[in-house]
Amino acid sequence: MTDLSKLINRAGSIHETIAESVPQIRRGIVWCTICGRSQKVDGAECMRSGWPVCHGYTMTIDSPDERATLKALQTKEAGRG
Ligand SMILES: [Zn+2]
Repeated sequence: MTDLSKLINRAGSIHETIAESVPQIRRGIVWCTICGRSQKVDGAECMRSGWPVCHGYTMTIDSPDERATLKALQTKEAGRG
């Protein structure tokens, strides 16, 4: 295999590589932050062609539990002043 074809191969699988290495993408579920609806997705495909939209917003890869945890942490940070 030439260096060029190796490079092309690697570029072609970059989305799969990212999808595999990020747990929130690997589980293949996104949530609407407005109505809470969840949807199964192919993370690698979504990175290529776009993420699903619900209620006018891009659906999030963070689960409701994870968002609650994040919000609690942010509130704590803000309170520290
Ligand atoms: Zn929605």
